[in-house]
Amino acid sequence: MESGELRLVPHADPEILELARDKGLHVISADRFIDHRRAHPWIAGAADRFLSCEYGADGLQLVPSGIREVPEQVKSRHEEAKELGFAYRINIGKGAHRRVLRSEWRCTGRSCVEAMASPDRLTCWPRVDEDGSVRCPSCGRPLEEAGPRGITRMIVVADRAGGEIVRFPISEGVAVVVGRGRLSYGINLGAGGLPSPRARAQVSRQHVKLQLTGVQARLTAVDLGSSNGTTIRRGNAPRESRLKPGTEIIVGDRDALLLGGAVVVRLSGHRFLPSLASPPELGDQGGSVTYIPPEEG
Ligand SMILES: [Zn+2]
Repeated sequence: MESGELRLVPHADPEILELARDKGLHVISADRFIDHRRAHPWIAGAADRFLSCEYGADGLQLVPSGIREVPEQVKSRHEEAKELGFAYRINIGKGAHRRVLRSEWRCTGRSCVEAMASPDRLTCWPRVDEDGSVRCPSCGRPLEEAGPRGITRMIVVADRAGGEIVRFPISEGVAVVVGRGRLSYGINLGAGGLPSPRARAQVSRQHVKLQLTGVQARLTAVDLGSSNGTTIRRGNAPRESRLKPGTEIIVGDRDALLLGGAVVVRLSGHRFLPSLASPPELGDQGGSVTYIPPEEG
């Protein structure tokens, strides 16, 4: 890039950030680029190079735009919002749009590829037009509502340094046990191919049971009498509190469970995931994953 050069591109952010990174340049923008933090981890450590314009008594001034490190959940929330916005014109800041995501939809178009492949319900997100109409992303026809969508969230298992061991989905009404060694059901952190063997040594065979419960489908956890215990860290709180074995507690979006002080279990920042018709096979990712059927009654 030459001084005085003008460049027109459809998406400026990636180009601006690459130039700033490679040439040590300043960026003038009010954007805090949270949806680019994973691709550009250097941003958090270069806050002095990000400036935004402000009108003051002396006219236009450049002030720091307030770059800070943000939790992983916040990064994935921003990535998700951007993806839904670009691909489906869904604004997750709007209640009406979030309600669209909480329903199943079906397309009745006779020549629609999506309707032919899956006549009972759309396997992708619907598209929301400016007038609020909900349409098929494949053929553009208005969609029929097909009942409420079950809630699915993603669980991330990592070591204390943030190194990911495995992630797996959890759906309403299906309990998952996280442990080490051969489980008859649940997530086996002792399975071959998973990283962080030292951290995993602190985990009991049946350590903690996770479930989405209640109308809000909040994540709950129960310590199953593990040898090294389970603690919870609430948000950015410096202290951790210990779970009483057998007692269910709610795990918030920004909270983290610590298994044996070594393995972190938390919710991913992704809020809107397609619900699971049947449990997924995660065998290729190294974890042995089986699910406990919903309890009777
Ligand atoms: Zn269609």
